[in-house]
Amino acid sequence: MLRPLRKIGSPVTATPRTQPDDLRADCGACFGLCCLALPFTRSSDFALTKPAGTPCPNLAGDHRCTVHSGLRDRGFTGCTVYECLGAGQKLSQHTFGGRDWRAHPELVPVMTAAYPVMRHLHELLWHLRHAAALQPAASVRDRVTGMIATLDDLTLQDADTLLAADLPALHAAAAELLRTASRLVRHHENPRPPDHARADLTGRDLRRTGLRAADLRGALLIGADLTGVDLGHADLLGADLRATVLNGADLSSALFLTQPQINAARGDAATGLPADLTRPPHWS
Ligand code: SF4
Repeated sequence: MLRPLRKIGSPVTATPRTQPDDLRADCGACFGLCCLALPFTRSSDFALTKPAGTPCPNLAGDHRCTVHSGLRDRGFTGCTVYECLGAGQKLSQHTFGGRDWRAHPELVPVMTAAYPVMRHLHELLWHLRHAAALQPAASVRDRVTGMIATLDDLTLQDADTLLAADLPALHAAAAELLRTASRLVRHHENPRPPDHARADLTGRDLRRTGLRAADLRGALLIGADLTGVDLGHADLLGADLRATVLNGADLSSALFLTQPQINAARGDAATGLPADLTRPPHWS
């Protein structure tokens, strides 16, 4: 029996059931949902076009990728960058109870619709868990943990409930908490932190730019050079880090970073990363 949802932001009364490891992809427990549900347009990231709800032709019957070892060489760089943040295995094993879409093709439309919703909720949970651990943001921790509980409950509901959720309202409530937590942390570090939110810094040489505790939310940093830059407590939520050069940069205490952002960037063995992110195998 599924539990009723909490009111948004109400106090947490139980430990969230979605644990940190559940917010990382476990492809072995997933029915290849990203390769089924996502639409692709032929580009430098994907070598083919396919609509949402149609399996990629490279997806084998056992849900393994038949070109996995050569994705970049074959023009599927986007697949090496993408990460479902655990949405795929939760839908496969929890929401749909281990029912494979190949054996149950009638589930394809609802799985395809539910996938981006679950992915969105898991991304919010990832960021909120980080916000809850930030000591200078302790004044909003109760609201953050309440929001975590609300979203956690929702991810454990059935597909109809997931699809009926008011995602824009949930996103807005979570985003406001993340903004507040970011402001508290960054101003604790620097009373006048640099503000580059949503700035277009594409291709810029930022090696001598002070970015500690900076607001870089939604900034376009595509191909920018951040070699050796201290990004301590900088807010990188939603920043576009495609081909951003992070060699020797310190992101170990950066706020609201995700694995797909790191996967899309360029770095090296000297790049400092938060403890819960993994150094991509394609970095030098
Ligand atoms: S190329 Fe492989 S990883 Fe990428 S969508 Fe197709 S099957 Fe999935």
